[in-house]
Amino acid sequence: MGGRFLSIGECMVELSQADDGHLRKGFAGDTFNTAWYARACLPKDWAIDYFTALGDDAMSDEMIAFMGSAGIGTQSIRRLRGKTPGLYMINLKDGERSFSYWRDSSAARQLATDGDALRAAIEASDVLYFSGITLAILSREDAFTLLAELRRAKAAGKLVAFDPNLRPRLWSSLDAMHTMIAEGARAATLVMPSFDDEAAHFSDDSIAATIRRYRQYGAVMVIVKNGPDGATIGDGVQGTLVPAVKVVKVIDTTSAGDSFNGAFLAHYLQHKNAVTAAGFAAKIAARVIQEYGALVSPEKLKSIR
Ligand code: ADP
Repeated sequence: MGGRFLSIGECMVELSQADDGHLRKGFAGDTFNTAWYARACLPKDWAIDYFTALGDDAMSDEMIAFMGSAGIGTQSIRRLRGKTPGLYMINLKDGERSFSYWRDSSAARQLATDGDALRAAIEASDVLYFSGITLAILSREDAFTLLAELRRAKAAGKLVAFDPNLRPRLWSSLDAMHTMIAEGARAATLVMPSFDDEAAHFSDDSIAATIRRYRQYGAVMVIVKNGPDGATIGDGVQGTLVPAVKVVKVIDTTSAGDSFNGAFLAHYLQHKNAVTAAGFAAKIAARVIQEYGALVSPEKLKSIR
């Protein structure tokens, strides 16, 4: 029996360098990437929808068409007059990647200005997904509008999943980031942090400390991703480590965490077993990091069980 999965956040235009020096255009963003992998891993009786705000320009039209062709529902996306999508560019220098962003005035920053539209989309869904980046791009007032709706969904028994995806540069201060990430976890049933980020920005000295902290904020289950060292599931006193899959040649780790989250949720929603879901997610993420780019085609993931 399927349901409706709604991912909330910002998808951007992505420019990357092709081998001939030309720029290649794509579309990506943490919460969109997770929706992409959830779509690739869930059967057709599940609807995967994306909630954001876009502009009324040709690039917004193209992004919506791209999402639609990927099987991701766009019916609740808000269109704002005179606005445009955010943009980022991947720079490659001596094999090292760096990113430049143009997202300060993107349409997605206003995704929660219409509280009624947000409520309608959330009420129509069974599973909600958002990230610390979703919260970071919103005004404080809009972030609280979104959080209130997510808390309602959680109270109604829906699965609300949250990846803190800590990006200090998107926040006005570390204090603001700490406060809002805690609010995000309070609104969530399942929190999916990456240990590297948590250790760096919350000074956690162990995975157990990360699990403890997010459970104190109000999360029911915490899954801490830790790169090649696997992922730890904490849903009580004890943590269960699920190993990563060995990858001999890592090509591009973009989207490792996003694909893990999408695959984990897809498996968990069908089988309700966090340990086997994390095992499946590790296989998907291991495949994703052996390709360039955030979005690996569903065909390449099909045989993974
Ligand atoms: P993020 O991309 O959010 O920083 P991680 O680096 O922790 O997240 O990676 C997420 C998941 O991707 C890990 O739990 C693991 O399953 C997989 N993964 C990441 N890096 C590797 C690697 N070098 N080898 C194998 N699996 C990896």
